[in-house]
This record gives sequence, C-alpha cells and structure tokens, in this order.
Amino acid sequence: RAKREGRNRYSFFEIGMDETLRMRKIVEEDLRQAITRDEIGVVYQPQFSADGRKVLGVEALVRWTHPVHGPISPADFIPVAEQRGLIPLLGEYVLRRACRDGKRWKGISVAVNVSPVQFRQKDFVSTVARIVQEEDMEPARVELELTEGVLVDDADGAENAMMELRALGLRFALDDFGTGYSSLIYLRRFAFDKIKIDRSFLESMETTGESAILVHSVVHLGRALGLTVTAEGVETTEQQRFLQAIGCHQVQGFLFCRPVAAEKIDELLGLVGEDGSVERKRA
Ligand code: C2E
Ligand code: MG
Ligand code: MG
Ligand code: MG
Repeated sequence: RAKREGRNRYSFFEIGMDETLRMRKIVEEDLRQAITRDEIGVVYQPQFSADGRKVLGVEALVRWTHPVHGPISPADFIPVAEQRGLIPLLGEYVLRRACRDGKRWKGISVAVNVSPVQFRQKDFVSTVARIVQEEDMEPARVELELTEGVLVDDADGAENAMMELRALGLRFALDDFGTGYSSLIYLRRFAFDKIKIDRSFLESMETTGESAILVHSVVHLGRALGLTVTAEGVETTEQQRFLQAIGCHQVQGFLFCRPVAAEKIDELLGLVGEDGSVERKRA
C-alpha cells in the first residue's frame, strides 16, 4: 500500500504510528454506523473529451465526513473496510447512489470503483444486477472500475463475473493502468472497454521524457485494441495539450473539475431550471 499512500498528501498513515492506530480504531468502530447515519457521501468527478469541452462521463468517489474527526480519505478507510468485512455494504451503497444520481445524467457514463474484496464476493454479480435494475439505471451507462488486484488472485472467477455483467450491458475500465506489474496480459485476457492511465505517469511526465514516451505508447496500445483511453490526474494545460495531441480520448483531473456534489453535475450538464429545480427529462 506504500505507493497509494505516498500519493495521498493527507493520508493518516503519514502522521506517525500512534495516529495510524488511532485512526484505524476510529474507522473500525465508526464506519458501520457512518453508513446508516448518512455520514457517507458520494461526489462525482467529470470525465471530459480530450479538448476538455464535453462531459462524457463521471466517476463516483466515496466521501466520509466523521462527526468528530472530519473528512477521512477513502485511501485510509477503504483498506480498513476491506479488512473488517464492510466493503460489500459500502460498495453497494455507493453503487446505488451513483445509479440514483446518474439516472438523470442522460447519455453519459457513471463509473464506480470496485474493491477487489467486493468483487470477489460470491453474490457480487447478482447484487450489482439487482441494484442497477432496482434503480432503473441503464446498465450500459454503468462502468465498473477495476484494478489489477481484482484480476490477480482468481483470474477465472474474475473473467466469469465480468462476462456475466457484460452480458447485462455493463462496462469495465481498468483503473490505475501502469501501476501493476503485468497490465498488458490483463488487457489481452479480460474484456475491458476503457483503460485509465494512472496519474503517477502524468506527474512524472514533466520531469522525465521517459514517462511521456510511456503515456504515448499506452495511448497507442489502447487505441489499437479498440479501447477508450482516459488519463486521470490531469492538472496542467500542457498535459492536456500533449494528451490531446497523441490521441488520448478522455481527460479527468483538477484542471477541468474537482470531484463535486451531484447537484454541481446537474448544473454542469445544464439540468437545472431557472427556478432551481432539476429537470430530469432533458439530456
Ligand atoms: P481512483 O479511483 O484512481 O480515483 C482517482 C483519485 O484521484 C480520486 O481520489 C480523485 O479525487 C483524485 N484526483 C482526480 N483528479 C486529480 C488531479 O488532477 N490531481 C490529483 N492529485 N488527484 C486527482 P480520492 O477520491 O481520494 O480516491 C482515492 C482512491 O480511493 C480512488 O482512486 C479509489 O481507488 C478509491 N475509492 C474512492 N471511492 C471509492 C469507492 O466508492 N469504492 C472503492 N472500492 N474505492 C474507492
Ligand atoms: Mg477510479
Ligand atoms: Mg485511478
Ligand atoms: Mg487510484
């Protein structure tokens, strides 16, 4: 987990061991209640066309505002939720919220992150199918973001689960592409629709020419395989111009928009009427 923590500036795991244990205890004790007490929220970060002009999708990102300790980063509480068996509950909550909100954002995809632990649950496929159906969401607009960790331990199981969900129309993105050790193999074996280039590549692009070459080849590879290529963590105009020039399809990052509340996405998509009401029919 060192890698992920290293990229998270506000990670509790960086402020000393006692703090770490304290936070772990808070998470273990309070997360279950947090879900029922409405402390858990979902924000959405738009994904834009390469020129940064058109919203093509959003990614749902979970947020926890603890009544005493304030905002806790998902990078900190998701690992604990995984260990304490709370991730199915949390994952289902986020998926349901994302479907409920995303339903009115016609024509754009709604991506939901899936934890490896959640994905490996026996009833994962049926649970996802049920939630999407209950929320009356178009399955083809639901994109599940998986990381390589999902695919490593039980490749056959993962393949089957993906196939079943694909048959229902759901789509798949390979998240944090390039941070694992055998991404290429996974691309060949598993039926992804999209790859998301990890933001660590963009970060280092400024300093090393090698990273730019890597990003370039990933975009080419993705395009050659007929996949949509999204770059995440785009923070500068230079990065956006480069990505657009090399044929990257989609960009996501603070340069365009931070993760925001569902109501802000309504505004962004022009769904808010003059009286402030959200119009649900228009695209
Ligand atoms: P991820 O899926 O790779 O999500 C992208 C993360 O990068 C988000 O952090 C987002 O806020 C951040 N980000 C987006 N654009 C930029 C940028 O331009 N610069 C920088 N520095 N960061 C940017 P967040 O929301 O803290 O989430 C961290 C990770 O926690 C996610 O990485 C994902 O792995 C996990 N996560 C978040 N929500 C969920 C969830 O509902 N379920 C599961 N299983 N995991 C989640
Ligand atoms: Mg993601
Ligand atoms: Mg990612
Ligand atoms: Mg990540």
